[in-house]
Amino acid sequence: MIQARARFASLVQSFRVSSSSSKLAAYYCYASSVQPVCKPSAYSAFDDDYADEDWDNLGFGVTPTDYMYTMKCSKDENFQQGLLTRYGNIELSPSAGVLNYGQAVFEGTKAWRKEDGRLLLFRPDQNAIRMQIGAERMCMPSPSIEQFVGAVKQTALANKRWVPPPGKGSLYIRPILMGSGPILGLASAPEYTLLVYASPVRNYFKEGSAPLNLHIDKDLVRATPGGAGGVKSITNYAPVLQALSRAKNRGYSDVLYLDSVNKKNVEEVSSCNIFIVKGNVISTPATNGTILPGVTRKSLIEIAGDHGYKVEERIIPVDELIDADEVFCTGTAVGVAPVQTITYNNRRIEYITGAQSVCQELYLTLVGIQTGLIEDTKSWTIEI
Ligand SMILES: *Cc1c(COP(=O)(O)O)cnc(C)c1O
Repeated sequence: MIQARARFASLVQSFRVSSSSSKLAAYYCYASSVQPVCKPSAYSAFDDDYADEDWDNLGFGVTPTDYMYTMKCSKDENFQQGLLTRYGNIELSPSAGVLNYGQAVFEGTKAWRKEDGRLLLFRPDQNAIRMQIGAERMCMPSPSIEQFVGAVKQTALANKRWVPPPGKGSLYIRPILMGSGPILGLASAPEYTLLVYASPVRNYFKEGSAPLNLHIDKDLVRATPGGAGGVKSITNYAPVLQALSRAKNRGYSDVLYLDSVNKKNVEEVSSCNIFIVKGNVISTPATNGTILPGVTRKSLIEIAGDHGYKVEERIIPVDELIDADEVFCTGTAVGVAPVQTITYNNRRIEYITGAQSVCQELYLTLVGIQTGLIEDTKSWTIEI
């Protein structure tokens, strides 16, 4: 704790010293509409108090927090040093690459508060690596793993009072890498920005922790071979809103997408991966370019193996859903969410859920590691 504080203090100090530097001037330029940027006296990261928030009623929404982190670089350069500023609106050129051509990838990771008050990050290096892969696909420079993890750490610490008490949720941290520079002809943008902000969250679905009811959409597809479905490109998400709102209007929690070529194999849900359980075997679709390689997915595969299950990453024909014992979804935002039913061709298939389920067993291990209640023998967590 002392160490983390000292580190943060030195960070703030270095920022104070440079607060009149050209970097900040450039930032003002970039974010001139932001409310008072970084009055040093406004730093509140040193107090251990909680923000004024109704911790018992958190959902998954945007709660403005105190600080955000920004780091910029031009097209053929590497990212240098970033900086924390007050959280607020940003200013972009109308012809920014991200606004016109969707040149951006995002990430999602969480900070959890341990019983002793310290914060834990869960495998942020994995998010860093995925951002690098996504950046390459979208023709963008990317931060180094150290820069990315550093930005996530600083954002978490600066917003520490927004990390919910143990058992009440977590601080969702959202890094975005975008083409922020102006471009008119289709090409990669001349300037890039990594922006990291955070919001306290609890349950992703309005169902809370109740099991999900999924709907298989046979018309709309999420990802296509050769497309960008395998990376967290922002371009993958608006196109599924129609299927999602259609499903929600009909009372379902989310949409389960099939492969776009044969409409025969299970791929994933709008923002999470899917697993099926049959006896002692746990299967999940292999990541083949149209499925997002989730950090939660990867972690759960390892945990399931440790618990003695046979884990298979393979093609899963939709027909296998009929015989499965359990189905569950995984993702940073959703955690490990049990599925109650899947509806396909007007047929509703029911699954086992509840305290004795495999899903619950694996979830308790994962969240135990994430929150420091179970010893982390895999070096997945970083204490800050
Ligand atoms: C982010 C995301 C996931 C889950 O990835 P995690 O690293 O586990 O959070 C799964 N599917 C899609 C489409 C996603 O965007």
